[in-house]
Amino acid sequence: MTIAFDPKARAETLYTGEFRPMFIGGNWVPAQSGEVLESRNPATGKLLATVPRGAAADVEAAVQAARTAFEGPWSKFKPYERQALLLKIADLFEQNWEELCLSDTLDMGMPISRTLANRRRVIGMLRFYAGQATAIHGEVIENSIPGEIVTFTRKEPVGVVGAIIPWNAPIAASIWKIGPALATGCTVVLKPSEEAPLTPLLIAKLMQQAGVPDGVVNIVTGTGAEAGAPLSLHPGVDKIVFTGSTATGQAIARAGTANLKRVSLELGGKSPMIICRDADIDRAVPVAAMAVFANSGQICIAGSRLFVAREIHDEFIRRVADFALKLRIGNGLEEQTEVGPIISSRQAGKVEGYIEVGRKEGADLVVGGERLSGPDFDGGNFIAPTVFGAVTDGMTIAREEIFGPVISALPFDTLDEVVARANATPYGLAAGVFTSNVGTAHKLTQRIKAGTVWVNMYHALDPAVPFGGMKMSGYGREGGVEHLGEYLETKAVWIQTD
Ligand code: NAD
Repeated sequence: MTIAFDPKARAETLYTGEFRPMFIGGNWVPAQSGEVLESRNPATGKLLATVPRGAAADVEAAVQAARTAFEGPWSKFKPYERQALLLKIADLFEQNWEELCLSDTLDMGMPISRTLANRRRVIGMLRFYAGQATAIHGEVIENSIPGEIVTFTRKEPVGVVGAIIPWNAPIAASIWKIGPALATGCTVVLKPSEEAPLTPLLIAKLMQQAGVPDGVVNIVTGTGAEAGAPLSLHPGVDKIVFTGSTATGQAIARAGTANLKRVSLELGGKSPMIICRDADIDRAVPVAAMAVFANSGQICIAGSRLFVAREIHDEFIRRVADFALKLRIGNGLEEQTEVGPIISSRQAGKVEGYIEVGRKEGADLVVGGERLSGPDFDGGNFIAPTVFGAVTDGMTIAREEIFGPVISALPFDTLDEVVARANATPYGLAAGVFTSNVGTAHKLTQRIKAGTVWVNMYHALDPAVPFGGMKMSGYGREGGVEHLGEYLETKAVWIQTD
């Protein structure tokens, strides 16, 4: 894609190492402790900004502000007014899209060409929720003799929502939480990842500019242990919506039991990508490669278990490896960059650890496998796109989520066998199938246990289509009409009329 502005020039002035306060009750504030966290560019190691190191006292203030807004001014907003607000926010996103994308590229490394390309989908989400805001309704239940009793349901906002998000897609993750809250009349306390807190703060600024009342959207920056945990435990929070790892999701679900808060979880995955013998290989190769290498593998839906029909396995893997070698890796501010850095040195070390284990357990390293160094990579955390062949189901790299640019390729012989192996995982987030046989496509989409199955494509997401996991990839759906249901309670009303 051609970029209509100079990302590098704009990046010089967006973040200059300054302090960026958090947003509570309509005020821009430091942490009550005065402590800060640093946010660094993963491509260069350069300090971008410091943010408040929020903790329990700040969470308390934010939850109180959210409660006051929920019971006060926000409850007076009619659905049409909430809709107008969401449409205004969407317009502000249009006007500020370049800056939002640049912020994500700087803070978490996603190439600018990729962040910019998400425009239609992310702004579409806001407009989708705006449409939904005026479509909320209960129903009348005909359970009695007419004239005796009237029974109907009401849909009411669940209340104060605690939203906790990871670092791999801050813009979309923020909107997937804040959008439905605004549409339904809930209020939100959002805790961004400590690894990438800056874009959610820019988003809060746009919310304020649009006229979102004080306390309706609050952002508390901080670590998972110090700010996330108190939020998930807080008795004043009615619901937690969480996106992140399965281990943290389990901790949050446990924390929620204190007041039985509603919980929705979008968690990790180890998604199968199945390439059948009759697949269109030219089409499948780039899709299978980018199903993992996009965003340097830091994608929950990464198709990281690449099952390939044995007859075509070797050729297919060779072509995926050739594709990987041609990818342009580097600082996401460069227009041509296709694969950016890993979020942190710690996470890059974790990915390297998995590569080492893959080698030791006997997988065949076809391409990649090393941390990149040299003038283009100085100060950053870059790992070469990596493909392992001859992987077997029991190997660690075939079982655990790596969250890095690593494909584990596994040959298969029959459809029944590949279905059983694809499902032999605790996860169930997504799956891909490449075949030219419509019967095979239907057979596999029915039998694979995953919240999303793509056929002859991958990665497509749309605000109108539900997304979420089965098994230990979580519960609840984001997107689609079901999404708003996650933010609503159903109340049954019975009225004796005679
Ligand atoms: P993570 O679970 O470490 O952190 C996610 C968020 O939870 C962060 O904001 C963190 O500060 C917070 N947190 C950590 N410990 C906490 C605790 N005890 N209580 C409350 N909050 C806590 O995940 P990550 O490393 O930031 O992100 C990567 C993971 O997210 C991967 O497993 C990936 O698959 C998953 N993910 C899932 C989806 C999806 O839609 N299913 C999307 C993106 C990422």
